[in-house]
Amino acid sequence: MSSNDGLRNKGKTRADMEDRRKAVESFTGAKLEHAGQCSFDPIVAEKNVENMIGTIQVPLGFIGPLKVRGDHADGEFLVPLATTEGALVASVNRGASVISASGGAEVIIIKDEMTRAPVFRTRGVRDSRRVVEWVNENFEEIKAVAEGTTRHGKLIKVRAFASGRSLFLRFSYDTGDAMGMNMCTIATEAACRLIEERAGVKLISVSGNMCVDKKPAALNFIDGRGKTVLADVRIPADLVKDKLHTTPEAMVETCYRKNLIGGSMSLSYGSNAHAANMLASFYIATGQDAAQVVEGSMASTTCEICEEGVYVSVRLPCIEVGTVGGGTKLPCQSEALSMMDCLGAKKAKKLAEIAAALVLAGELSTLAAQSAGELGKAHKALGR
Ligand code: NAP
Repeated sequence: MSSNDGLRNKGKTRADMEDRRKAVESFTGAKLEHAGQCSFDPIVAEKNVENMIGTIQVPLGFIGPLKVRGDHADGEFLVPLATTEGALVASVNRGASVISASGGAEVIIIKDEMTRAPVFRTRGVRDSRRVVEWVNENFEEIKAVAEGTTRHGKLIKVRAFASGRSLFLRFSYDTGDAMGMNMCTIATEAACRLIEERAGVKLISVSGNMCVDKKPAALNFIDGRGKTVLADVRIPADLVKDKLHTTPEAMVETCYRKNLIGGSMSLSYGSNAHAANMLASFYIATGQDAAQVVEGSMASTTCEICEEGVYVSVRLPCIEVGTVGGGTKLPCQSEALSMMDCLGAKKAKKLAEIAAALVLAGELSTLAAQSAGELGKAHKALGR
């Protein structure tokens, strides 16, 4: 079988999927008894995958109730997590119970912009300046062309970055309830055609790596991408002792030496214990683009002594989530979103706030476990 084999894109029906799976089994000698199964009509996934041969079942757990006091998510939530890492759900669940017993996590979204940054080739630095001036003068026309491709997307701004003959234009959009990458790419392509034609400049790529999609980058860490979300909680000292088996002082020192000094020694983007863990399991469960955990992982966790006991916060500059589009309409993923009443229109900000409270729960639990010397013990008991 070659990649050009007729079976490749033969069809989207269950029978097509089974033919394809049998061909793969016969080519590889592997038996796909479980992966070959699919509880839903494969046609549902036609925009999500090519060459479909089945599904991968990832164990699904939940944490909660997690009390969230956001502007969009206000209440107690059971949060679905799909993972193969034993002890993760138990640890985040402990964090959630501490947050809820402390009155809940305060969560706010301070920015909401999805970006796409094409790169153009100019004649040189003066020509780059000329093109930027043209873009600034004609922003309203560029906006109208970009927005002509979408009912929901709104172009907020275009920022320019030039180097030699390369000119990057970072387009920022409000994408409604969609994560928005397809939406932004299509809208930006239309805008680029206008810029090429009217400003007389050559587009090299609609994505010039200043977007920055699925790569760790200081630009995203500082400027944000998708939703920039902040969350915090004040935990009474008796809860730290009874539920986390440690002290506020020990948590603060662990956060300082591990997150801040360790993070700066390793030149990490952000300073956190394991934000990627919570986001990866949440993204997989809810049909988000799992590769965007790369940006999501650049989180900053802080921990300080406060009057009540200990104050813990997370800053998440890049929460790229949607409640429409992408993988959110797949049956399992939409069921998982429904657990939090986060499926469909007007729910994306709510989902982002729950994601931030979830990360806070995982961060404080792991900080506490490490400050109490319990991390290995928990993984030994639950994960091996
Ligand atoms: P999408 O599934 O391509 O499109 C979602 C569409 O839903 C929107 O374009 C919008 O149509 C419509 N929609 C309906 N109700 C909406 C609402 N309330 N708010 C916003 N939109 C609404 O999803 P996407 O979020 O743009 O892109 C996500 C997908 O892009 C994922 O599958 C991801 O893996 C993939 N991806 C693509 C790229 C790329 O470069 N193209 C890069 C990374 C990831 P209108 O536009 O007509 O309003």
